[in-house]
Amino acid sequence: MLLRGRSSAGEQVLCKDKVRGSNPLASTRKPGLSGPVLCFPGMLKMMNIPVWDDGHWPGLPQLEGTLEAEVCVVGLGGSGLAAIHQLLRLGQTVVGIDAATVAGGAAGRNGGFLLAGLARFYHQSVAEHGRDFARRVYQATLEEIARMKAEAPQEVRAVGSLRIAASEEELADCEAQRRALQTDGFAVEPYQGPEGQGLLMPDDAAFNPLKRCRRLALQALQAGARLFEHTPALRIRSGEVETPRGRVRCQRVLVAVDGGLERVLPELKGRVCTARLQMLATAPTEARFPRPVYRRWGYDYWQQLPDGRIALGGMRDAGGEAEWTLQAEPSQDIQCRLEQLLRQLGIQAPITHRWAASVGYTPDGLPIAEEVRPGVWAIGAYSGTGNVIGALLGQEVAWVLAGARPPRPLFLS
Ligand SMILES: Cc1cc2nc3c(=O)[nH]c(=O)nc-3n(C[C@H](O)[C@H](O)[C@H](O)COP(=O)(O)OP(=O)(O)OC[C@H]3O[C@@H](n4cnc5c(N)ncnc54)[C@H](O)[C@@H]3O)c2cc1C
Repeated sequence: MLLRGRSSAGEQVLCKDKVRGSNPLASTRKPGLSGPVLCFPGMLKMMNIPVWDDGHWPGLPQLEGTLEAEVCVVGLGGSGLAAIHQLLRLGQTVVGIDAATVAGGAAGRNGGFLLAGLARFYHQSVAEHGRDFARRVYQATLEEIARMKAEAPQEVRAVGSLRIAASEEELADCEAQRRALQTDGFAVEPYQGPEGQGLLMPDDAAFNPLKRCRRLALQALQAGARLFEHTPALRIRSGEVETPRGRVRCQRVLVAVDGGLERVLPELKGRVCTARLQMLATAPTEARFPRPVYRRWGYDYWQQLPDGRIALGGMRDAGGEAEWTLQAEPSQDIQCRLEQLLRQLGIQAPITHRWAASVGYTPDGLPIAEEVRPGVWAIGAYSGTGNVIGALLGQEVAWVLAGARPPRPLFLS
C-alpha cells in the first residue's frame, strides 16, 4: 500500500516533478523515519515471492494464433478480472491476456488490506474532491468489501483495520478523519491499544489477494472467458491487440494495469507515475495483531495472517528517488528498513519472504478511467490503494465497454 493522507501532498509534488525530471526527494521523507540502517547485504536473500503464493497454480497457456472477441482485457489482476466477470454477466465475449501470470503484479503481491474509500483519507477526499463524490465512493467501497465477503466468506476476514498515529500531528489528523467519517454516518471509533493510538475502521477487512484473483480467473474460464498468461500486449490499437505469437481482433480493448500503465499507454506519461512498493513476511509467531494496521500516514503497514505469519510493508519514502521505478525487485535498502521496523515491533520470527511490485500514482490521487485511444480504455493508477477501488472500477468500465450506462456511475459518467 498505501499512502493515504497528508503524505500524498508531498507525493503529488514528487510525481509531477518526477515526470518533469527533477528530484524533490528531500521533501518526501516523512517524520518518524529512523536514520541510516545497519544492513548486511550479503545476508538478505531476495526471492521476490509473496507470502500469498502457496505454489498451487496450474498456469494458463500462451496465446497463439488469432482470436476474436468483443472485448480484449489486457492485465489479469484484480481490476481486469473484475471487469471480465462483469463483461461476461453482460453477455460479452472476452479474451484476457497477461504479460506474466494471473495477479503476477501488485494484485497478487500486496498487503491484503481491503480499505474503504479513495487513496486519500476521508477528510482529505472531502476537501479535495467534494463531499458528495467522497461520500458516494466511500459508500460504494464499503458495499464492495461486503460483496467480496459474501461472494467468498472464507477468503475475507471482516476484522476492520487500524490507523495508528506516529506523531501528535498525525493523531490530530486522525481526529479530523474521525469527525468527517462520523458526520457522514460512516463507522469509525477512536482506538487505543497495544498497537498505539489512532482509529479503528470496523468495516475494513483483510484477505489473501492472490488466492482471490486465482479463483476469479478459474471462474471466468468456466464462464467462457479465454485467458492467457505470458502474453504481453505488444501493440494496442483500435480493434486489435498484437502479442508475440498471436493477436486478438476485438471491438474494444481494456487496459487494466496499475503500475507501469504509462509504459503500456505512453499517452499517460506525465499523468501516471510508477513506484515500487516492498514487503516481507515471517514464519508464524504468537498472536499479536487481530487486524491490519497502518501507521505513519499509511507509509508502513502490517497484518498477522490466520496462521500467525506477519506480512509487513512500507518504507517507500525512505528509498526516495530510487523507488520511483518500473523495476519490481526488492532492494537492499528498503528491505533492511522493513526488517528493522519488524524488530522494533518486537517480532523476532525469521523472515521467510521478501517481495516487491509496482503501483501507479496520479497527482490528485484519483485513478485513471478513460478512453485513451479510440476503442481503447484504461483503468489503473490507484495511488497505492487499489484492491477495492480497482474491483469497483473494473465493474464500472465493463458496462461502458458493453455499450451500457453503469447503474451507479462513480468515475465514468
Ligand atoms: C507491496 C504492495 C502493497 C499494497 N497493499 C495494498 C493493500 O493492502 N490494499 C490495497 O487496496 N492496495 C494495496 N496495494 C495496491 C494494490 O495492490 C493495487 O492497486 C492493485 O492490486 C492493482 O490491481 P490491478 O489489477 O489494477 O493491476 P495490476 O496488479 O498491476 O495488474 C496488471 C496486470 O497487467 C499485466 N500487464 C502489464 N503490462 C502488460 C502488457 N503489456 N500486456 C499484458 N499484460 C500486462 C501485469 O503482468 C499484471 O498482472 C499494494 C501494492 C503493493 C505493490
